Amino acid sequence: MALIDLTIHEMQEQLAAGTTTAVALTEAFLQQIKETDEQINAFITVCDQQALAAAREADAQRAAGNVQPLTGIPVALKDIFVTEGVRTTCASKILGDYLPPYDGTAVRKLKEQGAVIVGKLNMDEFAMGSSNENSAFGPVRNPWNTDCVPGGSSGGSAACVSARQAGATLGTDTGGSIRQPASHCGVVGLKPSYGRVSRYGVIAYASSLDQVGPLTRDVRDCAIMLGAVAGYDPADSTSVDLPVPNYLATIDQGVAGKKIGLPKEYFIDGLDDDVKQAIDTTVAKYKELGAEIVEVSLPHTKYAVACYYVVATAEASSNLARYDGVRYCQRVDEGNGLAEMYSQTRAAGFGDEVKRRIMLGTYALSSGYYDAYYIKAQKVRALIQQDFTKAFEQVDCILTPVAPTAAFGLGEKTSDPLQMYLSDIFTLSANLAGICGMSLPCGISQKGLPIGVQLLGKAFGEAELLQTAYAFEQATDWHSQQPEL
Ligand code: GLN
Repeated sequence: MALIDLTIHEMQEQLAAGTTTAVALTEAFLQQIKETDEQINAFITVCDQQALAAAREADAQRAAGNVQPLTGIPVALKDIFVTEGVRTTCASKILGDYLPPYDGTAVRKLKEQGAVIVGKLNMDEFAMGSSNENSAFGPVRNPWNTDCVPGGSSGGSAACVSARQAGATLGTDTGGSIRQPASHCGVVGLKPSYGRVSRYGVIAYASSLDQVGPLTRDVRDCAIMLGAVAGYDPADSTSVDLPVPNYLATIDQGVAGKKIGLPKEYFIDGLDDDVKQAIDTTVAKYKELGAEIVEVSLPHTKYAVACYYVVATAEASSNLARYDGVRYCQRVDEGNGLAEMYSQTRAAGFGDEVKRRIMLGTYALSSGYYDAYYIKAQKVRALIQQDFTKAFEQVDCILTPVAPTAAFGLGEKTSDPLQMYLSDIFTLSANLAGICGMSLPCGISQKGLPIGVQLLGKAFGEAELLQTAYAFEQATDWHSQQPEL
């Protein structure tokens, strides 16, 4: 098997057996990036020199008997993670060539465990989008069909794993940005519960919804990556001080006797036939594996899109106020005073979708409208949370589609923001409720595009979620399907 086709756990075995080295792995992935990325555009920055230096160091550490779980494993990061001395753009012009003076916590943890960072990945600007078409660095293309989007906002993170350009990646998920691109690119993606992974050093979009999580080839790799980055961090007051379980230790406990809920509100008109069929087959497989399937109800689902787009834009308008031309970013100043400098900088630096979100969010927070929009949305959010609490009294896990369709064509939805927002309908609620969720490959559409199934688990129930996912993966081989590049 080619080095770039190995999963993380296979790389770990080969590294331990001495049949490969961190340098060989890193060179193989850098070569693959060189050969494929002109087409895919998953990378904003490739860190070839730093990566090779880190790989040499990893090999030296291993030779000295100093082995960490990720020693020598090549990974890549969504360009929303601040990285010491490596340009961090958030796919926006406004950050210019920002060179952060520190590593965020998740990045620091990966480095401490020996991972080799091969580069920074394309995304929707400030993580706002569902197609990776809102990037100042051009769209990412889906490795399965380059006329299609990879999903967003972690489109680069999903495409990179799918195109075998790194062993695994980190993304962020505010309303589906890990799960939806994972589904569209045929890889595994996990959004941890709110508070499971530190957000320190992750450029903020909507702080009460944002979470960091892995995108990987398979479920075992997902458990490895989650274990590497999860945990309490004094630098993020919203991270939760709960022990991090050994996710690998319990991964193969199966689903016999588990109750899996199907929310009736998620099986709606507009769900593509291919998606419906893939989900039906998945449900049948879970039955075969001994799970009990139960219908559940999440009655406030119909308000999720509206609720999310008020909460997320309100928080975004506040978070993005810091890009004012004074700190971080490129300044546009024609000498007409401070207020003009702010406005010219922001007009030139932000893309259209980001401006739209800032305007929507500022409006929702403005006096006279605050109660009608923001406060109302917070109340609806509480109801959505309660729906899940009730459902989890009945079932261990909830199974739904990730998105209503497989990957759509580039340009197909860019002129209609509402259509774009509606593609998040199945993923947003997990963020509003703070629970964990995964996307797992479960089929291929008639047009040859991957389809994912979403599994949702209780807050801090990642171990059980991974178990449920692993049981399906062991019994099928969707995860080993690859695009031809
Ligand atoms: N597509 C959603 C949005 O545009 C979710 C993005 C995300 O999870 N970062 O807000």
